[in-house]
Amino acid sequence: MRAALLHGPGDLRVEEIVEPDGEVLVTVEVATACATDVKCLRHGHVILGPYPARFGHETVGVREDTGARVLVGDSVSCGTCRCCRADRTQLCERMRWVLGGFAQRIAAPAASLHAVPDGLPAAGAAMAEPLAAAVHAVARAGAASQPTNGRVAAAVLGGGTMGLMIARLLVLAGCDVTLADRHEERRDQARALGASAVAQLEPGGHELVMEAVGRPAAWRAAIEAAAPGATIVLVGGCPAGSEVTLPAAPLHYAELNVRGAFHHTPAEVDRALALLAAGEVDWRALAGPTIGLDELHGALLRPSHGEARKLVVDPHR
Ligand SMILES: [Zn+2]
Ligand SMILES: [Zn+2]
Repeated sequence: MRAALLHGPGDLRVEEIVEPDGEVLVTVEVATACATDVKCLRHGHVILGPYPARFGHETVGVREDTGARVLVGDSVSCGTCRCCRADRTQLCERMRWVLGGFAQRIAAPAASLHAVPDGLPAAGAAMAEPLAAAVHAVARAGAASQPTNGRVAAAVLGGGTMGLMIARLLVLAGCDVTLADRHEERRDQARALGASAVAQLEPGGHELVMEAVGRPAAWRAAIEAAAPGATIVLVGGCPAGSEVTLPAAPLHYAELNVRGAFHHTPAEVDRALALLAAGEVDWRALAGPTIGLDELHGALLRPSHGEARKLVVDPHR
């Protein structure tokens, strides 16, 4: 079968390899791509196995044994470490990553599989993986995303596909959402899903700020956009080794709640699949062109301009 293999940073080759061996064999329909895949290609990534490594972690396909359509979840937690015992499986200390969606078949642990709701096309179902991370990020905001008296003034920094998904979830939660992005096309995408959009946030006015850029300057901007007592959720992963300098005064005198958000739980993946199947999150508005494995290398390295859209990879093209 054909698969995209990483042989080192920047070295992606599409090769004929032996059929994978594992618990459940899944014929891949599509795998969508995200910034993590770009990181894997450019710099390598802690989640990758030894080279040559398979990658692609937003994978939907058909089980060879039962014919059922499944989302191949990208991780299985150990169930026994202190994080798993504390019900924080997204932080599992012995996480088993399930990568390899950029291939015609993947062998997956049964525990990683989620049933795809009837009628949800593969590209939409694959987006349940990143949407689950957005569901998790909003859950990390806790009560700050749930309006009690009046509407919550919420801000989202960054109009990539993750920022747009988070903005949509906050709109569904009843927040007043302002998304900030310097691209006009992404501001238009944010407006289409019910948010307002600006090039830059006004400082100090937001009770909830969700950062979805992944750069130290954006983390600082998120703090500066926060109102007294606000909650700030840092969703974007900064480049490895980054250090962040933040203004001390608002962290203390304005009692800011700063939280990280990483990954998701299996229940959040199922929630994301349900939101996509119900049309509450419009995956078509986030779907980019469908490409084959041979186009993957060039497409991942191409700088993204204009609208935020996810590559859809069909390994049988
Ligand atoms: Zn991803
Ligand atoms: Zn664990």
